Amino acid sequence: MLGHRTATGTLTMTQVGVSNIPDEGLTLSFHEDAAALDLTAPGARFVQPVTADVLLKKAGDAVSVTGRLALSVMFECVDCLREFLASFEIPVEAQYLPGSPSLVAGEHVMPVEEAENYYYRDDVIDLDELVREEVLLAMPYNPLCKPDCRGLCPHCGVDLNTETCQCAPPPDPRLAALRQFFKKP
Ligand SMILES: [Zn+2]
Ligand SMILES: [Zn+2]
Repeated sequence: MLGHRTATGTLTMTQVGVSNIPDEGLTLSFHEDAAALDLTAPGARFVQPVTADVLLKKAGDAVSVTGRLALSVMFECVDCLREFLASFEIPVEAQYLPGSPSLVAGEHVMPVEEAENYYYRDDVIDLDELVREEVLLAMPYNPLCKPDCRGLCPHCGVDLNTETCQCAPPPDPRLAALRQFFKKP
């Protein structure tokens, strides 16, 4: 229904012809393979496809895209190196504008107020760009398996979440001062 032949070839699932969007809007639900989106993030393995449920609506030349993305990502905890699966629900509220931003080659800095703006050319909106961008923005910089992960012992390497070890705890100067205090008669 969405794919139609243009001078540039057949549209893929995530490409939408702007002139094909009806006035009442277009609801789209699709799965997008992480490999096809070329997703990479530190310590992350994209093991499942991204699910998207969005509504496209025209307002003059602009097309608003609202809805949500959902995905699960396998991370390696930065503290204990254990793998864990994290699920994300990413609300989407963006708009596509005609033309393309005047970016100098190699320059990728966008003003903050334009962060949620995407651009389309030749009447074709490519949702891949939005999905990729929104997913990467949602990824944690330092993935932790849990907020209070205790990490690995720096001496013997045991996982301090599940085991204890005999290594001496690092001396705490505050505790030492306290001990001195109680030793006093
Ligand atoms: Zn951890
Ligand atoms: Zn240890």
